[in-house]
Amino acid sequence: MFGYVGIEAVLDQLKIKAMKTGFEFNIMVVGRSGLGKSTMVNTLFKSKVWKSSPVNKLGPLPQTLQLQSVTHTIEEKGVKLKLTVTDTPGFGDQINNDKCWDPILNYINDQYERYLQEEVLITRQHHIPDTRVHICVYFVPPTGHCLRPLDIEFLKRLCRVVNVVPVIARADSLTLEERESFRWQIQEDLKNNGIYVYPQKCFDEDSNDKTLNDKIREKIPFAVVGADREHLVNGKCVLGRKTKWGIIEVENMAHCEFPLLRDLLIRSHMQDLKDITHNVHYENYRVHRLNESHL
Ligand code: GDP
Ligand code: MG
Repeated sequence: MFGYVGIEAVLDQLKIKAMKTGFEFNIMVVGRSGLGKSTMVNTLFKSKVWKSSPVNKLGPLPQTLQLQSVTHTIEEKGVKLKLTVTDTPGFGDQINNDKCWDPILNYINDQYERYLQEEVLITRQHHIPDTRVHICVYFVPPTGHCLRPLDIEFLKRLCRVVNVVPVIARADSLTLEERESFRWQIQEDLKNNGIYVYPQKCFDEDSNDKTLNDKIREKIPFAVVGADREHLVNGKCVLGRKTKWGIIEVENMAHCEFPLLRDLLIRSHMQDLKDITHNVHYENYRVHRLNESHL
């Protein structure tokens, strides 16, 4: 038998290494215009995660006319996170929406291509800047019925190339019962159309993953509300939407599920999203491209 080796010291080394290099994490928001995508970008940056280094200088929102990225670097307990959110213009506003997904899919593939070009250089950079989209948040309009054909077609294409998490946008326009039945309907529509959103069952690594992810899968799509203003509620500043009936607090689980989305993206699944992007989606792209160039 072996004596005590002290292998766990490697954990400290990994931690030090991660702290030195920091994390780069890229999120993209996609959906029809007017569903609150740009607001959600601000909600993410203004939400509680960043209380240590709040980002308050965000201005009013013009209509989003082109793909644009906002990056903030956050440091907490010595860990650096460079978070980039790419906002996209609404699609599906035209009479003919054929191929309206092309600009988005092209952007995702362009980032894979950039990474690939760096990787195949003979003298590779020690650290390749990572602009690949690690997760795409897809905004479903709160119709309360079922997924529209356009959403189905778009989602089918997106899921093949990137991690996707759908959300029910502007969920404050639905009652709690409507949210539940809409969620159930969307889950059925996804299943019936072979659309595999994140977290996918086939990537659960062990029973702990499965237990945690099963709980998340039950709740997807999260019913979210976005806001970029703070209001005083019981003496505390909270992020929320002011309505005739009171304040809808975005970080209050009794009001909406934004906290579930935020935690999935930034707290619990960031590394997993990065791993799947690299090992599955980027790998598919790389194999496809290298096969192509050898024809
Ligand atoms: P985008 O076109 O998807 O980027 O949508 P915007 O973020 O520009 O939001 C469009 C309008 O919807 C703005 O007036 C927002 O204040 C409002 N809005 C954003 N999120 C929500 C939400 O969760 N609920 C409600 N009721 N309105 C929202
Ligand atoms: Mg916008």
